[in-house]
Amino acid sequence: MQEKGTISIHTENIFPIIKKFLYSDHEIFIRELVSNAVDATQKLQRLASIGEFKGELGEQKVVVKVDKKKKTITISDNGIGMTADEIKKYINQIAFSGATEFIEKYKDKGDESQIIGMFGLGFYSAFMVSKQVEIITKSYQEGSESARWICDGSTEFEISKGKRKEVGTDIILHIDDENQDFLEDHKISEVLKKYCKFLPVAIVFGEKEETLKDEKGEVIKDKDDKPKTKKVEDVINNPHPIWTKAPSELKDEDYLSFYQELYPFSAEPLFWIHLNVDYPFNLTGILYFPKVKNDFEISKNKIQLYSKQVFITDEVKDIVPEFLMMLHGVIDSPDIPLNVSRSYLQADGNVKKINSHITKKVADKLGELFKKDRPSFEAKWESLNLFVKYGIIADEKFFDKAKGFTLLENVEGKFFTLDEYKAHVEANQKDKDDSIVYIYSSDTNQQDAYIQSAKNKGYDVLKLDGPLDNHFVNSMEMKLEKTKWKRVDADIADKLVEKDEKAESVLSKEDEEKVQKIFEEAIGDKNYTVQLEALAPDELPVTLILPEFMRRMKDMQKMGGGSPYMMMGDMPDQFNAVINTNHPMVAKVLKTKAGDKQKGLATQAFELGLLSQNLLTGNKLTSFIKRSVDLLG
Ligand code: ADP
Repeated sequence: MQEKGTISIHTENIFPIIKKFLYSDHEIFIRELVSNAVDATQKLQRLASIGEFKGELGEQKVVVKVDKKKKTITISDNGIGMTADEIKKYINQIAFSGATEFIEKYKDKGDESQIIGMFGLGFYSAFMVSKQVEIITKSYQEGSESARWICDGSTEFEISKGKRKEVGTDIILHIDDENQDFLEDHKISEVLKKYCKFLPVAIVFGEKEETLKDEKGEVIKDKDDKPKTKKVEDVINNPHPIWTKAPSELKDEDYLSFYQELYPFSAEPLFWIHLNVDYPFNLTGILYFPKVKNDFEISKNKIQLYSKQVFITDEVKDIVPEFLMMLHGVIDSPDIPLNVSRSYLQADGNVKKINSHITKKVADKLGELFKKDRPSFEAKWESLNLFVKYGIIADEKFFDKAKGFTLLENVEGKFFTLDEYKAHVEANQKDKDDSIVYIYSSDTNQQDAYIQSAKNKGYDVLKLDGPLDNHFVNSMEMKLEKTKWKRVDADIADKLVEKDEKAESVLSKEDEEKVQKIFEEAIGDKNYTVQLEALAPDELPVTLILPEFMRRMKDMQKMGGGSPYMMMGDMPDQFNAVINTNHPMVAKVLKTKAGDKQKGLATQAFELGLLSQNLLTGNKLTSFIKRSVDLLG
């Protein structure tokens, strides 16, 4: 008996459309067909467990085979199978009344890959690579006969008796001319490893040699003393990845070796979080905190998203909070809508909940680690601070949770919580407006002279030299009330914490005007603004500072922010050359007769300032040294 029919869909030519719009993601036919096969075996297992299926269950597996001569790929399972009626019901009636409309709507939006799956097109993805598809199947139901369905990608199909004896299904793809590359073993193997690596049922592709062992586990050898081997089916997947297990069953080694399985040859992660949620949405997974230094950009896109152990994507941009994108690991959730456009995903209620759940979990875990073992938390801070700071900058709510374990490290390598640090500097670093001034260094080597001056005043200096610290400082200043943050070279030490008292200058108004002019002429560079200050006589005669406000503008510009100040173009650093009017050398400059000698002295004082900030280079340095030698002589 043979039956012909027409696949009932509203448009006559769905297949050309499928082919045309899904060109970019051809390989996902494997994912779709293998997961259908896995579903079928799992359904049979369930039926067997409730006594609905009484036959021999056998070893449940999915076998993928490539026949290069016949140009076919076959996906076989020993799952529930289908009766002829079921084929008609599940395969022929593509049950999507709005298909034409849907495709019309999305075909211009570049979202073609989203169409598949949306309306149960999973099986039909086979036509992306095939000129003809056969199903040979036998249902688990008692007394059912094997059925064969064949279709060439038009809307016509044929259904007849099949030859399959055991319960299960073979899907045979006759690969079309454009997709012959899928007949290469390495290609199929690559795609299987990408999408099917953690499917819950054994996926077999090809064979491998296995050494034979006796009952005691000893290797059996042949007469030439070589290990005996036999060919066995090559199972490409790990059906029981650790995220599906209960955390109580697992040891640290399990997490570490799974990390190596995901990212071979990576440095050991700092720690991990095992996610296990079943209400109000389903989510399991393991998130690892990798060791990161300053190159955190490259470690993005490392989280893999699965749905019931089927790999979906490693672009988890909308599912994981942006600031946690640097984490590694896997997330598995059947509740994430997988086949919809990105804008829809962002608006999805479940995705939002998942987002805030992950944020909360991460914050809880960090808080717990901090409480349990502060020294080890401090030791990991170099890597951790990036996550925490990114979180604080990007997510208002995260800061509330992170307040307690956000650490500040000073230049001596001592760590403080925000509260501890406040208590530490409050007495000595309060300015005339009652704000506490937090002094920081972005480069302890280069800013050493400033750090020493600040320390001489009894100030504490923080080390903030990470890639996010510019943003972190801005954000802290807004979040912590009555604080001012100043880089250690933003002002002379005396003025970092501004007090009301004003030091007396030994110079008269008239003399000060002269000094101003002498130095302006000697320096002769618009990037340096001459500023007179009455400082202690033992401070340097000339100090170069980078006023905080202008410097932050520049930093922001470098990072590509969007404020109107960014229109200034790439400007050079704008220094202030602070002249200490109380320094004896300045008095000496004044006393010297106007001319080359006076100019030389002023230049010498200025260049000493440059030297202390590592800014004196090239021919300027050469002439400085020559002048110094002359002066000594
Ligand atoms: P979906 O899997 O999203 O339901 P598909 O088009 O992939 O959509 O499959 C349609 C239906 O065909 C499945 O729901 C299932 O009932 C049936 N089916 C597909 N493949 C198999 C298989 N290997 N064994 C048994 N039934 C299958």
